[in-house]
Amino acid sequence: MGTHQTSVELFDRAGSVIPGGVNSAVRAFGAVGGTPPFIRSAQGPYLTDADGNTYVDLVCSWGPMLLGHAHPAVTEALHAAVSGGTSYGAPTEGEVELAEEMTARTPAEKVRLVSSGTEATMSAIRVARAATGRTKVIKFAGNYHGHVDGLLASAGSGVATFGLPDSPGVPAGTAADTIVLPYNDIGAVQRAFAEHGDDIACVIAEACPANMGVVPPRDGFNARLKETAHANGALLVLDEVLTGFRVSAGGWYGLEGLAPDLVTFGKVMGGGLPSAAFGGRADLMDLVSPAGPVYHGGTLSGNPLATAAGLATLRNATPEVYAHIDRVAEQVADAAEQELSAAGVPHRVQRGGNLFTVFFTDADVADFDDARAQDTKRYAAFFHALLEQGVYPPAAAFEAWFFSAAHDDAAVDRVVSALPKAARAAA
Ligand code: PLP
Repeated sequence: MGTHQTSVELFDRAGSVIPGGVNSAVRAFGAVGGTPPFIRSAQGPYLTDADGNTYVDLVCSWGPMLLGHAHPAVTEALHAAVSGGTSYGAPTEGEVELAEEMTARTPAEKVRLVSSGTEATMSAIRVARAATGRTKVIKFAGNYHGHVDGLLASAGSGVATFGLPDSPGVPAGTAADTIVLPYNDIGAVQRAFAEHGDDIACVIAEACPANMGVVPPRDGFNARLKETAHANGALLVLDEVLTGFRVSAGGWYGLEGLAPDLVTFGKVMGGGLPSAAFGGRADLMDLVSPAGPVYHGGTLSGNPLATAAGLATLRNATPEVYAHIDRVAEQVADAAEQELSAAGVPHRVQRGGNLFTVFFTDADVADFDDARAQDTKRYAAFFHALLEQGVYPPAAAFEAWFFSAAHDDAAVDRVVSALPKAARAAA
């Protein structure tokens, strides 16, 4: 690995004009220490930083880059779209095509496009509240649904990394409408309904949580959430912002087959541009304005560039793409397990479809408390030893590792051959 001087200078400059030097908290390497490389360009499975160092990218922009960076189909679609202008604030055929692609693959009968996963979950909850005439929401500790005020309570991802169980700035009244429960504990859900049943609008959960690290739902947990919610006149919202179109063509729904009432999407459906959606049963989605009274709008919702990149991504996400990503993810997960065992490091690699997390604990991780019991110092040592060898894993122990169709044998070999040294660094 060469010098990082340019990144160090850029991070210093950034700190004067951007809080913490970054535009999304987890990018700052706060959990693992050090200066984040500033990225100049990306191609296929590789990132190149401002000093010319290259890395095999195991973050994939935190999920969106299913086909790899600068995939020709996506860049061509973007070139074609941009020459026709960048935003109209009026409907386009591309939005219809994207909505058709999405509804064909998922349980959503109708979708409304937005620009971020945060907006998607915020809007889905508004629909659930309007449909039920109730206010309270059940969410699970360690599940992350973006930075919606009411959903920041005990959230995963950067909130877990930075140890902010509740963010300052969220009004007590807003937080009071959120009931936070331990994940994978259906008894806790039943007790909450017994106590507050008439006030609960919905249960929201990540379809397969990946923001406290990958913690899959126990067998039947999502189905029991749906049954329990329905038995009490409430709705189930499954958040597929991260898993949608990534773990299979139909997301987690494609693996489990359980249709929630409302569902949220983001990341892959934008192909690396800002795009997300909320959707679900047609009767619920027809509550959204102008079909119904629940207000929703967005200057850049369904933006033509984001729509073009998303369509090109979904149309090129063939069964072979998913089979390839499943295979390379498994290869790396297996190699990580083997090397950490050889180095005598307590660990547990947890998988959910083609997502996995290397936890530095030897106990089963079923909820946020289990995830937080891991040794994050070992993760920091493991992370830096990989980075030094040109491999870029997530800069926090509470995240999933991501692969793409572009992760070929050369990229996977670089990761696998970096693992022994990284495992020894974590010992
Ligand atoms: N929901 C889940 C499951 C996520 O993983 C994320 C982002 O990581 C979000 C919602 C928020 O999406 P965005 O960052 O686009 O606002």
